[in-house]
Amino acid sequence: MFDLVIRNGHVVGPGIDTVMDVAVDGEVIAAIGHGLRGRRELDATGLLVVPGAVDGHVHIRTERAEWSYDDTFRTGSVAAAFGGVTTFLDQVQVEPGVRLCAALAGRQGEAQGECLVDYGFHVNPREPSRERIDEIPEVVQAGVPTIKFFMSYEGWALSDDLILRGMQHVAAAGGLAIVHAENKAVIEELVRQQLELGRSGPQWHAAARPASMEAEASHRALALARLAGARVLLYHVTAAESVEELRRARRHGDAAFGEACLHYLVLDESAILDPVTGPAFEVSPPLRDAGHRDALWRALADGTLDVVSTDHGPRRRVRDAAGELVPPPGTSGIEVRLALVHDLGVRTGLLSLQRWVEVCCTRPADVFGLPTKGRLLPGLDADIVLFDPDREVMLSAPALHSHVDHSTYEGMRVRGFPVTTISRGEIVVEDGTLAAEPGRGRLAPRGWRPPGRIG
Ligand SMILES: [Zn+2]
Repeated sequence: MFDLVIRNGHVVGPGIDTVMDVAVDGEVIAAIGHGLRGRRELDATGLLVVPGAVDGHVHIRTERAEWSYDDTFRTGSVAAAFGGVTTFLDQVQVEPGVRLCAALAGRQGEAQGECLVDYGFHVNPREPSRERIDEIPEVVQAGVPTIKFFMSYEGWALSDDLILRGMQHVAAAGGLAIVHAENKAVIEELVRQQLELGRSGPQWHAAARPASMEAEASHRALALARLAGARVLLYHVTAAESVEELRRARRHGDAAFGEACLHYLVLDESAILDPVTGPAFEVSPPLRDAGHRDALWRALADGTLDVVSTDHGPRRRVRDAAGELVPPPGTSGIEVRLALVHDLGVRTGLLSLQRWVEVCCTRPADVFGLPTKGRLLPGLDADIVLFDPDREVMLSAPALHSHVDHSTYEGMRVRGFPVTTISRGEIVVEDGTLAAEPGRGRLAPRGWRPPGRIG
C-alpha cells in the first residue's frame, strides 16, 4: 500500500506513453505499473500524467530604481503550481559592488519560507571586473552551477574577455554558462540612427535589433564557450539564423544548448503594435516575424532547441505621460507555458506528446542541472502533473495567479490545462484549487548525474 496512487492516467515521459498507475511514497515516486493501490488514490482517467514542469528562466520580484518585477516568490510560485510547474529558477542579478555569494545568500533568504513549489537560482555577474568574475568558482561551490552572462544592455553587458574568463571558471567548475546573446554596440548604433530620423515608436523596436546581430552574438558566445571548454546555453533564441549557429556548434560536437521562450513561440512582431498591450512586448531580443517563429517550432521538434522557458517577469501597468495605464516591457508565462505549448505544439501536430514533456519538463531538468526533477522514475521527486487535454481556459489576468493586472496572452483560449499539481508527494493544487500553503517549497538540489554530463 503506497501513500498516494494516481490511477489510470495516460502517463507520458521519456520512454513511457501508456495508461498506467503512478505510486508515491513520502516525497518520491515509488513505482509505475498496473493495479497499484494507495491510502489515497486520484482517478486520472482521461487525463495526461506528466512530470512536474521546470521553468529555467524566471524573474521574481526585484526592486531597483529603473526596473522592477512584480511577482513575489509567493505569488510567482503559486502561479507556477497552477500551471503545472514544480520547479523554477530565478535570476540573481548582482548589483555592482556586491560579492556574488553575498547577493546569492540574500536572494536565497528572500525565497526561503515563501514558495509553494521548489526553486533554484542562476547567478548573473554584472560588474565588469576580473575580481567579480573570479568569484564564480565560489558560486558553483555554494550550489549554483549556472552562471548567466549578458552580451547586451548598458550596465549589464560584459566584454568578450570577461565572458571568456567567466566561461573558463564555469568550465573548470563543471557548470553551465548561460548567455543573452545580442550585439550591444550595433544595436546602440542602430537606435541612434533611428532617433536621428525621428523613429522612436514601437514599430522600430525590432529593426534596431536585427536577427543577424543576434546570430552574430550567438556565434561569438558559442565560439567563446568552445575556447573555454564550457557547456553553454543560449537563452531566448529568437532568430532562424541563431538556430543555424547552434546546429553548427552541435555538428562540431560542442555541448551547446538552446532555449526557446514562450512569447516568441506564441506571438509575432505584430503584437508590439497593439496600442493597449504592445508596450509589454518591447522586449529584447524582439518578437520577430512568423518565419522566425516557425523556425523555432521546427528547431524544438528536431531537437536543436532543447527547452521552452518563459522569461517570466510580469510587471504591473503604470501611468504614462498622458495618464493612460500601460504595461511596461515584460511578459508573464509561468502559469500558461505547459498549456500553450500543448495547445500550439501538440494539438497542431508540431510536437509529439513525448517531445512536449521533454521540452517543458525533462530537458530543462537535464540542461539546468536538477537531478531529482523532470522524470517519472522511482526514487526521483514525486513532482507530478495531471493535465486535462480537453479543459478549455480563457487566459486573462483575473483567471491567473501572478501579481499582475494584465496577461501577456489576454483573451486567448487554450484547450488543455493542468488540473492537479503534486510537489514532492504533496498535492499543492487539486482540481484547479489551491491545496497547500506557500512556504513548503525548497531549494532544489543542483548538479548533473553523472557529474559533469548533461543527459
Ligand atoms: Zn530573462
